[in-house]
Amino acid sequence: MTSDQIWQPLVEELARWQRADRKAEFWLRDDDAVDPTPALDRLLDLTGQFAIPVTLAVIPALTDGKLVARLDEAPHATVAIHGWAHRNHAPEGQKKQELDPHRSREAVLDDLARGLSRITGLHGARAVPMLVPPWNRIDASLISELGSIGFAALSVYGPPKPASLAVINSNVDIMDWHGTRGCRDHGILVQTIIAQSRRAFDDGEPVGLLTHHLVHDESAWLFLERLFTVTARTEACAWLPIRTLVRRGAGRAIPGKV
Ligand SMILES: [Zn+2]
Repeated sequence: MTSDQIWQPLVEELARWQRADRKAEFWLRDDDAVDPTPALDRLLDLTGQFAIPVTLAVIPALTDGKLVARLDEAPHATVAIHGWAHRNHAPEGQKKQELDPHRSREAVLDDLARGLSRITGLHGARAVPMLVPPWNRIDASLISELGSIGFAALSVYGPPKPASLAVINSNVDIMDWHGTRGCRDHGILVQTIIAQSRRAFDDGEPVGLLTHHLVHDESAWLFLERLFTVTARTEACAWLPIRTLVRRGAGRAIPGKV
């Protein structure tokens, strides 16, 4: 299959939005930033070139002013809180988790409050009080506490569940973690994006693309460039800044639910 053949179904999907006089909404979350690196430069250059707002989930305990200086030159980047140290506390043989039920609630919430304070202290107005749990996992009973320590939003992976704060999830992961550990097949990814776009047409939750710049192979970079090119060619697609989604999601949150 040629590249054009792989991407044509998405072109047609976006044309459907155009005919309905609507915009398909996308947002981009990239995880695990700590320091300026060539891979981060590449992500910031590519997204900057297409004017795509990018939310970097930054690991608070491991980052410092070097990232701040780099992002001062990338006004399209915002920063969210990626746990505290991206450290696994789950027992051997269980799925990795930092925000886990194996420690006291106080210990986990202390870590999170410290993470929020550190990222906000470093990045100021660039920081968005959104928690991105490492490995996309958080003990469900902690979610109702996030508002009380200053978080306005939570972002994990998959369909959002009603919560006491805005939940803005990613739903298309471009990496094949359990297979090649490189980019997933482009044709399959295009079909996944189309499926999410159709769901979004009905429920209004945006298509949330998830990337990990530090482990991208050439195929991952190529996929992003093609996706940005296709979505730039139509007015029926908008890449939204996370702040817009937090503001909108906050209005929809269900008080008292976790
Ligand atoms: Zn991570």
